Amino acid sequence: MITAGIDVGSTATKAVIFDGTIRSMAIIPTGWNPKEAGRNVFLEALNEASLQEQDISMIVGTGYGRVSLAFIDRKVTEITCHAKGARFLFPQTRTVIDIGGQDSKVIAVGEDGSVVDFIMNDKCAAGTGRFLQVMTGILDITLDELGQMASGSKPVSINSMCTVFAESEIIGLLAQEVTKEAIASGIVQTIANKMLSLTSRVPCLEEITFSGGVANNPEICAVLSSAFGAKFNIAHQPQIVGALGAAILGYEKL
Ligand code: ADP
Repeated sequence: MITAGIDVGSTATKAVIFDGTIRSMAIIPTGWNPKEAGRNVFLEALNEASLQEQDISMIVGTGYGRVSLAFIDRKVTEITCHAKGARFLFPQTRTVIDIGGQDSKVIAVGEDGSVVDFIMNDKCAAGTGRFLQVMTGILDITLDELGQMASGSKPVSINSMCTVFAESEIIGLLAQEVTKEAIASGIVQTIANKMLSLTSRVPCLEEITFSGGVANNPEICAVLSSAFGAKFNIAHQPQIVGALGAAILGYEKL
């Protein structure tokens, strides 16, 4: 029995092929056409697993673009999928923190793995991958360089919570000859502060699993881990947690 999970996110589209374990995965940019991205990532994951479409017993879609996928069997919200994927990877997970391209969320998970509560910030780019992309654009560095520069540097305080105002603030800091290292560290700290304020509205239970593309950044993981002070898990491939959860839900359904 083999299932597939497809997570069409705002920035990246992910697929996982699941047969009780992760058989293969693929990640591609969503681009302007979520329908095509969903199809292409599925084919890429199939190819990676040396499987044909007819080998898959159920396809479950999630993410904001799941509505545009005509070839899937079920659609499930990303909240449920992230909780499911995180519990598969780290069975004691009680809180999922997910920071994606254009939203961030905190999900409280019960002892039995069910979603107890969640809060989602999808109204504002601050504290999301988009925020980081804008900021690294101004600093003319890559996302990985942002982490390296921030590591061990004293953060300058960035007071604007809004991405547009934070952009102006950073331009001002550069004009005052504040180092890129201090600014990079301030940007990482802003992400941590934003997540701490989100978790103040949802009970943040031990233990935490961090998912989403931003969890690819070791420095952001380190700062968040020390800010939360709880057991803090990071998946080897944090971006596929939602697609993995979708594939597992299909597997369980069968
Ligand atoms: P979505 O599901 O909303 O498309 P993802 O969970 O796939 O989001 O994450 C995409 C985001 O991850 C992008 O905005 C990108 O900025 C961020 N990202 C990817 N790699 C890194 C990295 N090494 N450091 C920081 N952010 C990263």
